[in-house]
Amino acid sequence: MAKYFGTNGARGKMDLFTPEFTSGLAAAFGTWTGKGKILVGRDTRTTGEMIENAVVAGLLSVGCQPMLLGVVPAPTIELATTKLGAVGSIAITASHNPPEWIGVKCIDSRSVSLSKERGDEVEKIFEEKKFARAEWNEIKKIEGYDAAISDHVEAIKKWVNVEKIKKKKPKLILDCGNGTACNIAPRLFTELGCKITTLNSHPDGHFPGRNSEPTKENVSDLIATVKKLNADAGIAWDGDGDRVIFVDERGEFVIGDKSFALCVELALRGKKGNVATTVATTNAIKDIASKHGCKLVYSKVGAPYLSEKMIEAKAVIGGEEVGGVIWPQFHYGKDGFTTAAKIVEAISEKPLSKWIASLPAYCNSKIKIPFSEKEKFEVIEKMKKQLEKTGEKTITIDGVRVDGSDGWCILRPSGTEHFVRIFAEAKTQKQADSMVKEFEAKLLALKNK
Ligand code: MG
Repeated sequence: MAKYFGTNGARGKMDLFTPEFTSGLAAAFGTWTGKGKILVGRDTRTTGEMIENAVVAGLLSVGCQPMLLGVVPAPTIELATTKLGAVGSIAITASHNPPEWIGVKCIDSRSVSLSKERGDEVEKIFEEKKFARAEWNEIKKIEGYDAAISDHVEAIKKWVNVEKIKKKKPKLILDCGNGTACNIAPRLFTELGCKITTLNSHPDGHFPGRNSEPTKENVSDLIATVKKLNADAGIAWDGDGDRVIFVDERGEFVIGDKSFALCVELALRGKKGNVATTVATTNAIKDIASKHGCKLVYSKVGAPYLSEKMIEAKAVIGGEEVGGVIWPQFHYGKDGFTTAAKIVEAISEKPLSKWIASLPAYCNSKIKIPFSEKEKFEVIEKMKKQLEKTGEKTITIDGVRVDGSDGWCILRPSGTEHFVRIFAEAKTQKQADSMVKEFEAKLLALKNK
């Protein structure tokens, strides 16, 4: 079981990420990928340079060729990975975590980030010190590549309808949250012909402007500015720029699954194909896919599983319930900039609130029930068996999901805490609430059986 790798790489604070630990982990990753070019990019955290230097030392020690991209978003690294033919990449980022956190996200040559299970393989090399150390005369020189941001901007400009955006000249408020978005978002939307006002747009690892996670509470300045300046939309990113959220022209916060649903609608208008999402995502995605005659495929919760499922199913778009969208024509990571540009193209046609209102709407309800570490898995297994017996329609790739006539409900053991989470979605709030209550009672009845 992976000790350091979670669903989004390894994360910790200064006590874990010492130079020794970090260079060891990088050497293990370089051993795992084999000798070759490995891209290294980092977010705006104060620890970035320290970690970068340790990563580089580790990679050099196993004969890899480190190529430094500087302070860039994670999706920019993912795009560069395939473009530059790297055998892998390391994104030094703790995403939306508080500023004292440090993280290392390992990405393979297909731009898919390593899952817990594949992270396990890297950890095994690290724990057993089975590094493929290079000889003195095999050590490479450090290279740099400073065009990764330009490449990302140009790729997006080739993809969206720039003429349409330039004609409308949408007025946007961009909240870069002092993260990596500072280095791409103002430039991208200026070059797309938008009128922009920026918030928190200087890179600063103390995150002085707001907390890095773009929740409704954390983007209150953005909401107020959209209203005050009568903007067409507000956009905010997390620290590494894979997640993006929107505020509509009335100053309403748009939750992540709505913007994902809008992206699915926009993608399928362009090109029909399979849609991939996690088992915990709104049925609005299923509805939109079937409206276009397309199939929905499910993956376990977690970005690496979703990326793998997309490759397997040749999906044309994929996304997660928290508001991360993957556009496979670019790479297999969630990308907050392609997503934002696609939605800005759409609002050049009609207001964001109108787009959102046109999407299927559902109500949801959720609770978490405390269980011990052992019990939380056992009780889910018992629930699966019970539902099988009663002939319910279930999906069991991650916890257990039950699809009924009123809606659906998923029960999942928490990955990090001692809880089982129950989430239900239905056409009405009453139905969603009652599904949660029904499964809570069933779960508690199974506890002592
Ligand atoms: Mg992130």
